[in-house]
Amino acid sequence: MNINYKTPEELKQLTDKGRPETNALLKKLKKKKPKRLDDVVHTLHYEAFDNFDCLDCANCCQTIGPRLIDKDIERLAKHLKMKVADFMAQYIKTDEDGDFVFNEHPCPFLLPDNYCMVYESRPKACREYPHTDRKRFYQILELSHKNCETCPVVLEVFDELKKENF
Ligand code: SF4
Ligand code: SF4
Repeated sequence: MNINYKTPEELKQLTDKGRPETNALLKKLKKKKPKRLDDVVHTLHYEAFDNFDCLDCANCCQTIGPRLIDKDIERLAKHLKMKVADFMAQYIKTDEDGDFVFNEHPCPFLLPDNYCMVYESRPKACREYPHTDRKRFYQILELSHKNCETCPVVLEVFDELKKENF
C-alpha cells in the first residue's frame, strides 16, 4: 500500500469523484453487515499506518479538532499546570452542538513540525481518530466517508474496500 500526503482540498476532490462508487459500497455494507468487515478494515488500517506517518500530514489537527470530554480538559490543564478554569478560558469554546472544542484551528497544541505539544495527555478523540481500528465499523460508515475529506488513510481504506468482494 502506497499512500502519499494529500491536502484537504485534494482529498475533498477525490472524495467527491469517488462518491457514487462509495455510496454504492456503503449501501451494500449497511444491508449485508458482513462479519469480516472489521477484520478487513483493521488489516487495511495497520497496513496503511505502517506506510504512512501522521507527522507528514496533521490534516486532522489542522482542520477538524477533537470534541473534548471533561476528563480531557482536566488532564490537559494538569499537563500544562494550569487551573481548569484558566485552561477553559484560554483554549476552549462551546460549538453549535454544545460540545467543548478547542477555540481555534489549527489546534493550539500543534507544533510547526506537526508534533503534538500535549501528546501524552491528548484528548481521547485524538487518540481514536481516524477510527479505522475500532469495532463495529459498520456503525461509522457515514462518518468515515466524511473523514475521507480530511484523512488520506481513510480515503485509501475506502479505495481498498471497493476492491473487496463483500
Ligand atoms: S490521522 Fe489521518 S488526517 Fe490525521 S495526521 Fe494521521 S493521516 Fe493525517
Ligand atoms: S491535541 Fe494534539 S493530537 Fe489533538 S488535535 Fe491538538 S495537536 Fe492534534
